[in-house]
Amino acid sequence: MERRRRNTTYVTALAVGACLAAAGCGGEVAIKVVDVPTPPAPVTVVHSLESGETLGDVFDTHGLSGQQILEVVAAIEEFESVRRFRPGTEIQLASRPDEGPLRISLRLDRDRTLHLLAEPDGPRPWNARLDSVPIRRDTIRLAGLVGSNLYDAELSGDVDRLGPGELHDVVFRLSQMFAWQVDFWRDIRTNDAYRVLIAREVRPDGSIRSAKVLAAEFRNDTRELVAVRFQADEEAPVEYYDEAGEALRGEFLLAPLDLARMTSGFNLRRFHPVLRRTRPHLGVDYGASRGTPVRSTGAGRITRAGPWGGYGTAIEVRHVNNLRTRYAHLSGIARGVRSGVQVEQGQVIGYVGSSGLATGAHLHYEFLQGGRQVNPARMNFPRAEPVPDEQREVFMARSELSLSRLRLLPMPGTGIAVAGRRTQD
Ligand SMILES: [Zn+2]
Repeated sequence: MERRRRNTTYVTALAVGACLAAAGCGGEVAIKVVDVPTPPAPVTVVHSLESGETLGDVFDTHGLSGQQILEVVAAIEEFESVRRFRPGTEIQLASRPDEGPLRISLRLDRDRTLHLLAEPDGPRPWNARLDSVPIRRDTIRLAGLVGSNLYDAELSGDVDRLGPGELHDVVFRLSQMFAWQVDFWRDIRTNDAYRVLIAREVRPDGSIRSAKVLAAEFRNDTRELVAVRFQADEEAPVEYYDEAGEALRGEFLLAPLDLARMTSGFNLRRFHPVLRRTRPHLGVDYGASRGTPVRSTGAGRITRAGPWGGYGTAIEVRHVNNLRTRYAHLSGIARGVRSGVQVEQGQVIGYVGSSGLATGAHLHYEFLQGGRQVNPARMNFPRAEPVPDEQREVFMARSELSLSRLRLLPMPGTGIAVAGRRTQD
């Protein structure tokens, strides 16, 4: 009985196969047995798009006629502009000797492959099918107890689910979310801690297609900071707010250095700013290696960029409310940065060096109010707009949900006496 059913299935499959082969047949199927010699197996070649080469060049190289190339390009264009294919794109062509191509596959990006099947007798010469890798959506929680540096933390939570390179990305995102509250170059202490809730899209190979930090907490010394992701409406930018709905984003970043360069080589236990001073010190020094990008901490206009006495190569930016920032001892100035030019908050304006009166590579950063140097950490800068009133209820509900999910994972080191607090220069 079992055996017979299998046979039946087999015959049906054959009939369907025959129908597909005789393109366009429908309804009644008449199977005619003809003695045909087995056609030679198709040969597949893989071509990697080279710099300066177009898809047309590739198809021409592999023997397609001018008409065929036009047809193939038209079929591709329904999915992706042929101009968008970058060098390195993989193109597979399967054909039988002495016949045109049977199948062309193009890798559109990491997630999508376009297959074109030749249909010489079909309504269109090419039948296109787009294959996407199956994407899994998940949410993970991750916590870290800061050790010798921000990237060297004792982790807990869904550590085994982290994708390649994901931890570095998570830490960098944290530093961006709290860039207006924490100076990640100077204020981080051993035993600081964080926890994050991340919604992700994961590929079958475990790599991360996208990640959103839904909520995060950061304990910096004695401060507890909270960030909740919220988008007031579809047009509005994504913002991070504290529990009360106040925006984290403010008029000035606390650190002028690009954190992407702060890698595991940066050690809190060894770090101390340049100690030697030749005059009353009116700024904040950042120990950083030569070439580390320097960012304008606020939007403004460049008032000076170039050699400037003991400052060496230096830049001054004028901001609103008679505030100015200065960046000194640079090794270079970023392209396009000169007096009179408008810069955005976070824009790279120069590079760390040791020009002028400097004992080694470091950034000397000054913050001036009404022409006098002040401590930027003690200033109370205006914030971006809070959650709009009409969205408040939605925000509170979302915030409560995100934070309750986040807080299922304990904050590391809670209750531990913070040992070895360093003095600050
Ligand atoms: Zn200094």
